[in-house]
Order: sequence, then C-alpha cells, then structure tokens
Amino acid sequence: ESQLNPNYNFDNFLEGDSNRLARSAGLAVANKPGGTSFNPLLIFGGVGLGKTHLAHAIGVDIKDKYPEKTVLYISAEKFTQQYIESVKKNTRNDFIHFYQLIDVLIIDDVQFFSGKSGTQDVFFHIFNHLHQNGKQVILTSDKAPVDMQDIEQRLLSRFKWGLSAELQTPDYETRISILKNKLYRDGVDMPEDIIEYVAKNIKSNVRELEGAIISLIAQSSFNKREVTIELATQIVEKFVKNTKREVSIDYIQKVVSDYFQMDVATLQSKTRKRHIVQARQLAMFFAKKFTKASLASIGSQIGKRDHATVLHACKTVDNLAETDKQFRKHLEDLTKKLSQ
Ligand code: ADP
Ligand code: MG
Repeated sequence: ESQLNPNYNFDNFLEGDSNRLARSAGLAVANKPGGTSFNPLLIFGGVGLGKTHLAHAIGVDIKDKYPEKTVLYISAEKFTQQYIESVKKNTRNDFIHFYQLIDVLIIDDVQFFSGKSGTQDVFFHIFNHLHQNGKQVILTSDKAPVDMQDIEQRLLSRFKWGLSAELQTPDYETRISILKNKLYRDGVDMPEDIIEYVAKNIKSNVRELEGAIISLIAQSSFNKREVTIELATQIVEKFVKNTKREVSIDYIQKVVSDYFQMDVATLQSKTRKRHIVQARQLAMFFAKKFTKASLASIGSQIGKRDHATVLHACKTVDNLAETDKQFRKHLEDLTKKLSQ
C-alpha cells in the first residue's frame, strides 16, 4: 500500500509563479527518482498552499513511470506513531528495516518531528541508508530548514543536502486559473465577475479558495440559488472567518513586542525588568493559547526558556488578569489583535 492519493496529481496541480520552482523540481524528481541532485527534495510553505498535493503528485507520477518501484507516502505524525508503537512492541529493527527497503519515501509535514528526538534519530538512520543507496526522499514542511525549531543539527544539515523549494501564496492569475479549473472539472458555469470576486478576496490559502468555490457550486446546483455577488460576498466572508488563520509563534512575538514598543530581541532577552518580563510572559501565554506547539517548543522559541518557565508564565498571566486592571487591558488588546 503506497497510501498515495491519485486525485492529487500533476495535471490538476496548476502552475503559477508561486509554485513553478517546486513543481518543476517535483517533475524532475518524478522523471529520475534518486537520480537528481534534488535529494532530498524538501517542499515548504504555509497552510493550504499545496504541499500535500504536490508530494502525492510526485509519488503518483513515479508509480506511473516506474511501477516496479516501491513508493510510500506517510505523514510525519503517522511515522512517529508507528515508531513509538515499534519501540513498545520491541520491533524497532523491523520498523527501520521496512523503511530502508523503500525506493521513494515521502514524508509530509516533517515539522512534526520537532522536539521528538527518538523519531529524529530513527529517521536519521533511515535517511542515510536510503540516500546512500540512491533512493529518493521527498519531504514537506511548513518552514524552510533554516527556520525549523527543535530539529537536530545533523538532520537539518541532511535536509539542506538536496533542494528546498518554496510554495508561495498564489498570485491573482494563478488563483483565477485554480478556480476556473475547479469549475471546469465540475462542469459548472459561473459568471466571470463572481470568479474574480472570489479570487480577489481569498488570497492566502488555496484550500480556502477551493472551499469558497465549492460552497458556491453547491448553492447554485443543489439549492438552485442564483449566484450573485451578494451570495459570493456572504460565502467569502464566512470562509475567511471560519478558517481561523494559524498564528505562528514568530508572529505572536512580533505583535506583542510592537504593542509594548520594544523589539523582539528585547522581549527574548534575559532581563528581569518587569515590563519586559510581562511582555515575554504574554507572548508565551498567547503561544500556548493560539498554537499547537508544546510548552518546551514555545519556551525554546521565546528566548530559549524551558517548559516550566512557560507554564509559570501562563499561570502568572491568568493571575494578573484577575488582579491587575492595566494588565487585563493589555491582555484584551492583544487578544483582539491576534484574533484578527
Ligand atoms: P498543504 O498541504 O500545503 O496544507 P494541500 O496540499 O492540502 O496544502 O492543498 C490544499 C488544497 O488546495 C488541496 O485541495 C489542493 O488540491 C489545492 N491546491 C493547492 N495548490 C494547488 C494548485 N497549484 N493547483 C490546484 N490545486 C491546488
Ligand atoms: Mg498538508
């Protein structure tokens, strides 16, 4: 079982300036898996920009051209679970052996390996084996290797061996072609001004773009509603609101330091000055609240503190919010800014 999804292929991965490099590199790898200098090929970019789609497309294309090759797609999360399971069952060697026999290994969302040293270690050995034997490794991540946190140096340096290709937010032209392609495939007609309205208003995420057009298609074909700009406006608004933007810890630190008129380095510094300590504690509190990062990962990203410091910060913020009116105001202001 390759776990590949044939619906994610190159034909329906539309090309634009925002993805040309990554797409071409993917095609090159698919033509000669293990035989290019793009090994590993690391595709990185924000949420909903097509990393998973492109990763599958490469695998699907390889399977097409080289049916005898074993291609495996797996999320970093599932890989981690399998590894933990193997340790429990005392089958760690079988786990390693299984992965070392694969010709093309695709691991999605490797940022999930952050802070997981056992998994990183086992992946390091599998990676080396595959690479030495001319096998292809394809990885995706939400960040470039230079920005990855809590990944061992030796693994990061492997990530940088091949090519890191970014998927950027699609420009207007690409957004239009993605929408038109979707409509064409579904056999639906939509007025040009509606398509343009959607493409103009949903900019940062292809998944949202698709979601909005799917809603519009559903409204027009199942509810028999006329697709007007008013309807498009309602749907676009709902989409942009419903899909809560994932805020990053970097972004939180930026917003908090801007608010207190200091720079991020000051916020992270070792100083014990009260207002700086409070800013830092607020940043930790929001990182806990608005991201999925672990306490340890939050601490290491906000001035190299440990998880206990983060936990303490969150408690302090809760306490101060109850007892200190001025502080509560800061908390409310910042919550508003970060929820926008
Ligand atoms: P990510 O893994 O980066 O979060 P996905 O690969 O899940 O993003 O993509 C989100 C959605 O957007 C998917 O339905 C995917 O098919 C679609 N998509 C992304 N980029 C493109 C593209 N260039 N052309 C067509 N569809 C795309
Ligand atoms: Mg994905």
